[in-house]
Amino acid sequence: MPAQRMFVFQLSLFFCSWLSSIHGLDFRYYNSVEMEQYLKDVNRTYPEITHLHSIGQSVEGRELWVLILGQHPREHRTGIPEFKYVGNMHGNEVVGRVLLLQLINYLTSRYLSDPLVTRMLNSSRVHILPSMNPDGFESSDRDCINSVGRYNKNGVDLNRNFPDAFESNTEQEIEKEVSAVMDWLKTETFVLSANLHGGAVVASYPYDNSNRGSELQGGQSISPDDDVFIHLAKTYSYNHTEMHNANSCSDFIGFDHGITNGYYWYPLKGGMQDYNYVKAQCLELTLEISCCKFPLESQLPGLWEANRPALLAYMQQVHLGVKGVVMDSDGKPVQNAVVEVSGRRNLCPFSSDRNGEYFRLLLPGTYTITVTHPGHETLTQRIKVPYGPDSFSALTHNFILRQKDNISTGAAPSPQSCTNAITTLTLFILQRLLS
Ligand SMILES: [Zn+2]
Repeated sequence: MPAQRMFVFQLSLFFCSWLSSIHGLDFRYYNSVEMEQYLKDVNRTYPEITHLHSIGQSVEGRELWVLILGQHPREHRTGIPEFKYVGNMHGNEVVGRVLLLQLINYLTSRYLSDPLVTRMLNSSRVHILPSMNPDGFESSDRDCINSVGRYNKNGVDLNRNFPDAFESNTEQEIEKEVSAVMDWLKTETFVLSANLHGGAVVASYPYDNSNRGSELQGGQSISPDDDVFIHLAKTYSYNHTEMHNANSCSDFIGFDHGITNGYYWYPLKGGMQDYNYVKAQCLELTLEISCCKFPLESQLPGLWEANRPALLAYMQQVHLGVKGVVMDSDGKPVQNAVVEVSGRRNLCPFSSDRNGEYFRLLLPGTYTITVTHPGHETLTQRIKVPYGPDSFSALTHNFILRQKDNISTGAAPSPQSCTNAITTLTLFILQRLLS
């Protein structure tokens, strides 16, 4: 074969193998080694729009890989909301893990050719942790309902291991996987999130627990942002081919619209979604996306098609509501300013982060927002909030605080139990080291 034809032949071989390895991700279960290899391949192939880092290790020492996707994957940019998906928290609930790898493949391979994907990655930063419990996954048997592999290596249910928002569970040791996620939450101001489970088909929203106070209404534990949560849950269930029909799994009672208040379904202490919402200002749903926890590989393409529109539509909801920067009269960002929406008494108040930024997911309407910060005059404004997801941006509204004349500005109080906005330099450095 002449040298020139040989070169073309080799080039086409390389191109074909590259295409099949990246564009045609097989519908099968990747073990932890294969998954790591895939994530590294994607990162190598799309270095401009991806950033791969580990947020810690499992008990058995497996890395907890997070792939970040976006126009600026390596760092936060003002006004760009941070979104996340977490899969495989229960090691034997494996569909989420598969679908998140498919989602990575879908987003990276369509960037700049698919307008929706392009706008999504240009307007938000998407963090994907395909497996929060890789040890559990490796020990799973391939059973639909059996719980082997649900727990981590220490036999702990990770979705019961977070510090509870309502009751003290401090006697409980925090597992490495949970600790890694808690630290991760302090490195970014995550705005919206979902964690993917299996064994039912329903979108469950906070609260999962209650202290039997005023939040308990009609058997539900209702949060101040109930309207937003119901909208988010319906966004998923109605963009899913089956979920909204409420009868997807024969052995389960149907859920109206395919959604449920977590507590109403069953009370749960130490769950991840309450922790995200209450402690980290990140609205999170628990998405149950398959009747069978570990289905046959032949069912995976159908599960991807059923969930794909819902996964994308849900991500777009990161643009609900209002966002902006709290500044002082010199235009300097103000950290830890409390940004409170009238009528929503959050257990931990939403506040501005280290960049002075705040993000508040709200449905369209007119809201009274009050901003307070020690040493500054309280600022109250009425704001008309449009529907942001269609334009891929929440309403931008900055607040400018006036310093009080006769009171010195001390450091803002930092409520120890509400830590997300109070990102320390140490954690920032830690994240860089892990990158
Ligand atoms: Zn689960």
